[in-house]
Amino acid sequence: MLQAIVPKIPISNPRLTKMIYEMVLRYFLDIDPAIFLKLIDLWPQDIYFVPAIINENVIWSLMGYDPQKATDFLINNVSRIRVSTVMDKLESYPKLQLVYLHNLFFHKRDQVNQEGKEYHNKQIELYATYDRDHLYEFLEKSIYWDLDRALEVCSSKELWREVVFIYGRMGSIPEALKFMIEKGDVKQAIEFVQKQNDQLLWDELISKSIRNPVFVSGLLENVGTHINPLKLIEKIPKGMEIIGLRYRLVKIINDYLLQTSLSQGCCEVLKADVITLSHRLYKGNRRAIRVEQDARCTSSNVSIISASKKKNVVVFFCNHIFFEDELIKLSGAQNNMMGGKQYVCPTCKQNAENNNLSEKKTKVGQK
Ligand SMILES: [Zn+2]
Repeated sequence: MLQAIVPKIPISNPRLTKMIYEMVLRYFLDIDPAIFLKLIDLWPQDIYFVPAIINENVIWSLMGYDPQKATDFLINNVSRIRVSTVMDKLESYPKLQLVYLHNLFFHKRDQVNQEGKEYHNKQIELYATYDRDHLYEFLEKSIYWDLDRALEVCSSKELWREVVFIYGRMGSIPEALKFMIEKGDVKQAIEFVQKQNDQLLWDELISKSIRNPVFVSGLLENVGTHINPLKLIEKIPKGMEIIGLRYRLVKIINDYLLQTSLSQGCCEVLKADVITLSHRLYKGNRRAIRVEQDARCTSSNVSIISASKKKNVVVFFCNHIFFEDELIKLSGAQNNMMGGKQYVCPTCKQNAENNNLSEKKTKVGQK
């Protein structure tokens, strides 16, 4: 019966009393959650009052019916249906709890969502059990989880990549590295050291792993573009057998050739830049400077044209004009043109210094 008239229920012009919409929603919530969720999508939120239709018992039936849509609904109404209420109601359904928490945290991709942060430790446990793929990203983005607890969870589940990340966040960089070397995970160790961007850490990695042929082999294969391979090769103990050494050396040489040709290519590109810019400079230098009839000396403010018969005039490209004797007075004896030195426009120089000063001041202020 009600199904048939639902499409005809007006939502604006005329707008009915809230009670009617709430009644309809409550009805479908009980008999057909699909229609309920559809109406939630269709109807504007301000025509009904959520707590009037949602009682806590329906959270589970909605989540059980269509977790994604139900989650969207719950998240959109997070101010009215609190996170703790949802979590309590889903207590016996950890997978659904995770669906909810995951969407809650990630639904605003571009900003960190604080809603539900008190459940982030729990969320880590849930990820570790049901959805390992998303754990790492979550660890990276949330700052509300407990380091020791997370370390315990991830170690017990043997999630080594996450363990290393947690060590990193703890600031225990050497522990993290030691851990990776013990696990024999060359690729990850290199990736990790690369991210830290610390030359000493490379040395540490090499010295700690140099007695392990598998590690040396992996290092040879991957390290070429990050450090000087000689550094590594010189340290390899005499008589150590390394699988695929020949292939790895060839790769290092190839990498090196590639780097060389890259930097040569860059030089060529820069050459072209230099030529273009010198052309521009040359053109600029040939530009005429027009001196207006009523132009005045920037320093003494005396008209240039009337006095010019008796005095030398210096015109800068910035269009500042000075009598030469004024300029000498201003810029001091050491800048005298006669000594073969170039004049610098004192006005522009002063401006530039002032700018520098104020820039430095703002930088200090920012700190
Ligand atoms: Zn100037």
